[in-house]
Amino acid sequence: MTNKYAEGYPAKAYYGGCQFVDVAETLAIERAKQLFGCNFANVQPNSGSQMNQAVFLALLQPGDTFMGLDLNSGGHLTHGSPVNMSSKWFNVVSMASAATTTASTWMKSPPAQRTQAQAHHRRALPYSRIWDWKRFREIADSVGAYLMVDMAHIAGLVAGGEHPSPVPHAHVVTSTTHKSLRGPRGGLILSNDEDIARKMNSAVFPGLQGGPLMHVIAARRSRLAGAAPRIQDLCEERCRQRPHAGGEPSETGLDIVSGGTDNHSMLVDLRPKNATGKRAEAALGRANITCNKNGIPFDPEKPFVTSGIRLGTPAGTTRGFGEAEFAEIGRLISEVMDGLKASNSDEGNAAVEAAVKAKVIELTDRFPLYAGM
Ligand code: PLP
Repeated sequence: MTNKYAEGYPAKAYYGGCQFVDVAETLAIERAKQLFGCNFANVQPNSGSQMNQAVFLALLQPGDTFMGLDLNSGGHLTHGSPVNMSSKWFNVVSMASAATTTASTWMKSPPAQRTQAQAHHRRALPYSRIWDWKRFREIADSVGAYLMVDMAHIAGLVAGGEHPSPVPHAHVVTSTTHKSLRGPRGGLILSNDEDIARKMNSAVFPGLQGGPLMHVIAARRSRLAGAAPRIQDLCEERCRQRPHAGGEPSETGLDIVSGGTDNHSMLVDLRPKNATGKRAEAALGRANITCNKNGIPFDPEKPFVTSGIRLGTPAGTTRGFGEAEFAEIGRLISEVMDGLKASNSDEGNAAVEAAVKAKVIELTDRFPLYAGM
């Protein structure tokens, strides 16, 4: 699969000798369609960024306007970050600013108004809450826009029936295959509209990519197939863990943006713990807990520092962690954060971090990496 060049699509490759890779890709397409209940699927995007670029290439002209979710509001670079092609070649209106007020107005407004705007923003944008796709489509229709949903974070929950599917509502849906879907790295583009699906295919190849990564597509095929019932189990487990994923908030004192989570993920505002995302990421790393710093809405810190961390359960669930283990992880995170707060320095509290590290090693030893797959 690695050796075979297969530019094009099944039965329409620009190369001879594609009969076996065609079987793999056709199966991946059929299984993606079945899993997400849609009519068309493109399984070739090499990454999540490329799947989103393909949608832009297919549906927009340079200079066109789109509305996206900014990084600090749970979006991705490809949703209109100033450093990304999506904002350099297109005109971005940030959903976050629109939900409150424009960013520049917000910066100039008095502190009380800012606080109010922040509070409104936290309610208006669901982060780890349930998204109302029908309402989004109504809004898109009312202004003559396409609705594209990048469901990368929650695709596993959608596949497992634990989050409403955007497929019946959106013109086009994209998803990575390596997050909650727990498959190999890459992207998917789904649609029920034949004309849009044709445009997506041309945008992926020859618009953006050359030879598809057939070895990854073959792996995606196995994941999408064997996956369906297993994904359902994993999702149910993940959702059961939901209230415990960060430990009980009263117990851990962690401030979860949106006031909680309805899925497997959460963004933690660390300001009550007197820490930045950068310091927390480093301190947790020293205790063998890997997570990523992340901006929070209207973050006063720079993107390399941030005021938050983002946590999710898929990797732990795959490993076999259950409710008790996630509650334990919530407590361990809280211990490190309290140690950091008490030390009031970048170095953190070495004794606390060493003690937590020992507990992490004991926990992960009980759940070896691939045992839960
Ligand atoms: N879309 C979302 C929602 C993401 O979170 C990410 C990655 O973090 C991407 C797209 C891009 O995926 P990739 O890193 O494979 O380019």
